[in-house]
Amino acid sequence: MELVIHRGTDEIGASCVEVRGAGRRIFLDAGLPLDDAVDAPACLPSRLPGGLSGADALFISHSHLDHCGLLDQVPENIPVYMSETARQLVDTSRMFNRKPLLNRPILPLTLGNEVRLGEIVVTPRLMDHSAPDALGFHVQADGQGIFYTGDFRSHGRKGKAFEHLLQHPPKPLGALLMEGTLLDRSNVTYPDETSVEKAMAKAFRDEPGLSCVVCSGQNIDRLVSVYRATRKAGRDLVLDLYTAWVLEVFGRTHASTPRMEWDGVRVLAHGRWASRHYGVISNAPDFFGDFRQRVYAPGVAIRPEKLTARPGNFVVKTSRPFALVEEFKSASVTTVYSLWAGNLDPTRRRREAEEYAALEARPGSHLLHIHTSGHADLETLRRLNEALRPKVLIPMHTEHKHKFPTHFPNALVLEDGQVHTL
Ligand SMILES: [Zn+2]
Repeated sequence: MELVIHRGTDEIGASCVEVRGAGRRIFLDAGLPLDDAVDAPACLPSRLPGGLSGADALFISHSHLDHCGLLDQVPENIPVYMSETARQLVDTSRMFNRKPLLNRPILPLTLGNEVRLGEIVVTPRLMDHSAPDALGFHVQADGQGIFYTGDFRSHGRKGKAFEHLLQHPPKPLGALLMEGTLLDRSNVTYPDETSVEKAMAKAFRDEPGLSCVVCSGQNIDRLVSVYRATRKAGRDLVLDLYTAWVLEVFGRTHASTPRMEWDGVRVLAHGRWASRHYGVISNAPDFFGDFRQRVYAPGVAIRPEKLTARPGNFVVKTSRPFALVEEFKSASVTTVYSLWAGNLDPTRRRREAEEYAALEARPGSHLLHIHTSGHADLETLRRLNEALRPKVLIPMHTEHKHKFPTHFPNALVLEDGQVHTL
């Protein structure tokens, strides 16, 4: 059995791994470099033997673009496997970004069901990550095995999945391909989703006026934290149409996640705040089904005037808090920024950094950063390595692969394109 990390040994993102065994070749993930979508065509790994065209299958771990953003570049004849949740989220992103939907057959991955391609076997395992239903892959062939973690953590709302993996380690295991995003980053201020929820509830309670939250509309764990914090603070959560749709889709298979018809959830579906999303929804009636009708049912949609009249009753989930804060003219406003703080680094995203700096400087405005990472801290990485006991631990999805040997005696540092034989 052989493996090659075509990209991802020395960066966070662009993950693409090839596994060869039993006369077959499969690929795990086909991701874009983070923040580099513009260069997509040039980023297709070029060192593949014969490219992807002769591969037996591609397995996608989750819906983040640094793991699946090259799907459009993958030849039509390659079977692509991914979870139903990932497929729906990829299509949702495409729909709202006015891009064509996936127009290729996607074969579903379901937990508990292995995929057999001749004598190579791929078993998906549920991972705790900020993308819902993220998967890791145990690949077995020729009496050998590897485990590819994809992205994971242990401190989210699927922490039990991580514990289950520790208690039921994949065997055999010649190599563990493990992500290391946080190897040199701290996650101590808010170590888990529970601490995020608690801090948000306090922020919303302390704010007499409008509260806004900026978070990923596809991070279901975070949306649950926001909803619970909102209710603890005695407020209603106001979603944009996009987030209401994501929760609608996810709720079809996960009954316990909040959605627009729940008590304490409203949708800002009128006026200029909703017009961009509304245009997308009204142009694709087949895709959205009866969502468009149901969102305007009594008790679901809320008019902006209601927020203006009683801003202290609501928490608004938004990606653009600046205009919202101006519009509602609330004397006091709290904005909770619930994404990675690196996004506000002026050397990475100057415009965004300036907008948030201006928001913070506005009289009566409070900007709080309340976030926990979607990735595993060093202790969690150690626990996984110790429980799975692979012969070698191969770091990827990290900017610090050369630090792994100081933390992990079985670390094997590879270069992009280097073949490792088990
Ligand atoms: Zn991810």
